[in-house]
Amino acid sequence: MSDAVETPQTAAPIRISNKIGALGSGDHPVSMGEIRTACIRTFGCQMNVHDSDRMRRMILDAGYAEVHSYEEADLVILNTCYVRENAVDRVRGHLGELNRLRREGRVKKVALTGCIGASGESADLQRKYDIDLVLGTHNTYELAEFVGLPTMRETYTPELPGTDGEHSAFVTIMTGCNYRCSYCIVPAVRGRMVCRPLENVVEEVERLVASGTRYVTLLGQTVDAWRQDGRRFCDLLERVADVAPRVWFTTSHPSNMEDRTLRLIGEKGTIVKRLHLPVQSGSDRMLKIMHRGYKAERYRRKIGVFREAVPDGTLSTDIIVGHPGETEEDHENTLGLVEDCAFDSAYIFKFSPRRGTEAAGLGAPVAPEVVQRRFLEVLRAVEQNAFARNQLKVGGVEEVYVRHGSTEDGKAIGETWSGHAVHVRTGARPGDYVKARIESAGPHVLYAGEPIA
Ligand code: SAM
Ligand code: SF4
Repeated sequence: MSDAVETPQTAAPIRISNKIGALGSGDHPVSMGEIRTACIRTFGCQMNVHDSDRMRRMILDAGYAEVHSYEEADLVILNTCYVRENAVDRVRGHLGELNRLRREGRVKKVALTGCIGASGESADLQRKYDIDLVLGTHNTYELAEFVGLPTMRETYTPELPGTDGEHSAFVTIMTGCNYRCSYCIVPAVRGRMVCRPLENVVEEVERLVASGTRYVTLLGQTVDAWRQDGRRFCDLLERVADVAPRVWFTTSHPSNMEDRTLRLIGEKGTIVKRLHLPVQSGSDRMLKIMHRGYKAERYRRKIGVFREAVPDGTLSTDIIVGHPGETEEDHENTLGLVEDCAFDSAYIFKFSPRRGTEAAGLGAPVAPEVVQRRFLEVLRAVEQNAFARNQLKVGGVEEVYVRHGSTEDGKAIGETWSGHAVHVRTGARPGDYVKARIESAGPHVLYAGEPIA
């Protein structure tokens, strides 16, 4: 929970800018036995993580070894986020460092991909930092040719190679977004909504499960807006939940969230009982200015349905503080909604003006010290509640899905069916389940003892 958390996005028709020839196909001759190395650095949301997974598949297929530091890499791919200005500043810092390493002959090529690649700013960055390849989010597949693979046909992102065989996988079900929230750059960089056909999604999930995937996360900017030939997100979710042993989805929009989807979460044993439903503000006035398309009361009602249908579920949200025009009364309304909805966690963002969005031109900025105070007040309210709710789990036995294997301290990181993050003392591997008693709890995580046989 911090203002430093990056976020989701999707693309417009983008151009490739391949200054030099492909690595390994001319300008960077590869001798027999020479191992080419690539480092992928991901900024931002799960969709970017997923895009990075697909790029990873391409570089591995092209014979690269993946490395984790720039110094060891022939090729560095920065897969970027454009949602807030601090995300862009961070990438500029990395580009500066990469230029230095390139001058020293350590790094050979740099590629900039993702949402910054899709933005108007990319041409300036390419000139300034002498970037070799710039790709947006709709033409990530063009990386294939750059790394010496056969040219892939143009297609929309979901058709790119996936991550078969790993214990958990993201599956994109839609790209883009048809909303026009005042503050958000996503529609500009990711384009309008494109829904992937249901059969196509189910086939991919079946293939993943057959090759060992145990956890499928359905991805999209507004996953619950998915529709196709009269079928809606709930129908897709149900089909996937029949096929996959464990399913989650993100991100949802309150205007699209149907009651039957909320009930399905409670009914289907394979769906993780965690709902991420960004509210942004608790003030009707601000929700209108933001063009969110719902009022706070409607949001509260949805949460009421969720809590009733999924009593043991967890709920998270996104909140923006300091959007232009936000008054003290609007802020109080947000605090009131936080109290009423009793979120288990929240991503709280300080408003960041993005050129090209409506909010950037609205004026009436909120003073930075006021934004900071409001940020802390919302954070405190969320954390107090999350801490109290997490305490209720202490003493109980939970089935924990291991997401990351144990580190040096002997603790693995897992997730309960209710969507709580748990540290558990086990050597179990990612994808395994263990049963363990919750011994203590903080505001963000539960702590379990050794697994119970
Ligand atoms: N599609 C999701 C929705 O409608 O709620 C969210 C996608 S957005 C990329 C992720 C989060 O980033 C948003 O929910 C919002 O809280 C935050 N965000 C987007 N633009 C922002 C901005 N200009 N300043 C601060 N936060 C922003
Ligand atoms: Fe951005 Fe709004 Fe679309 Fe979410 S729904 S991606 S916040 S424009």
